[in-house]
Amino acid sequence: MLSAVAVSKRYNAVQALDGVSLDLRAGEVVALVGDNGAGKSTLVKVISGVVAPDEGRIERDGHPVRVNHPQDAQRIGVSTVHQDLALCENLDVVGNLFLGAERHRWSLLRHIRMERTARDLLSSLDVRIRDIGVPVAMLSGGQRQSVAIARALIGDPSVVILDEPTAALGVEQTAQVLALIRRLRERGLAVLLISHNLADVRAVSDRIVVLRLGRNAGEFPTEGTAPET
Ligand code: ADP
Ligand code: ADP
Repeated sequence: MLSAVAVSKRYNAVQALDGVSLDLRAGEVVALVGDNGAGKSTLVKVISGVVAPDEGRIERDGHPVRVNHPQDAQRIGVSTVHQDLALCENLDVVGNLFLGAERHRWSLLRHIRMERTARDLLSSLDVRIRDIGVPVAMLSGGQRQSVAIARALIGDPSVVILDEPTAALGVEQTAQVLALIRRLRERGLAVLLISHNLADVRAVSDRIVVLRLGRNAGEFPTEGTAPET
């Protein structure tokens, strides 16, 4: 579905990526792992149009596509949830899901419709938030991550990139987010999961792609669909 093909990127003296390739497929969770400095963030930036590669290309269904700007990523159906989530802390869930939608101009009817849309989206993802009207700052870490992931689905992307979605979470909240990631796969999304946590990676991913010093260093299938052991 979406591929990075032989991508290279150099920052001054550092060859951050050196001919890296990655294939993402519908209904599959791929974990991208590697030590600090391996090039994971840079690869994500290339796929999401934040950084232009020096060499190589992004392909969608086998055809080269231009991804020179974050808006290009949106156009080719790639949505990224960054580690900092970029939520508006003082806005509620609806406000965050439809960020930038000029909510103050919504009619009452539109408010009611958008709130229903938000509730439907969250319940389709089995995300339980008792009061979606409170500022997201008051939600738990797992709920906040879930809201950020739900927001990433608003433009109906086919690829979702999750950068360390469980890094800041405890055991229970991690389990919630992992369940949500499985639901993304059930929806047929291609998921790219950046994670340092091997247990999480094993629990949800179908395939592990390892980067080392800016190069592909191996690819392993996992039993992401099997129950955790
Ligand atoms: P990872 O996400 O796996 O930790 P990065 O993609 O962040 O790896 O970094 C890969 C290499 O590129 C590292 O050596 C890092 O220091 C370097 N690097 C990343 N971003 C920049 C930048 N903006 N300027 C210079 N060097 C960078
Ligand atoms: P992570 O690898 O978890 O994304 P890092 O701490 O490696 O986080 O990098 C944080 C940010 O700083 C990234 O956007 C990365 O591109 C940038 N960065 C990393 N190394 C350098 C560097 N040597 N010079 C400038 N920016 C860098």
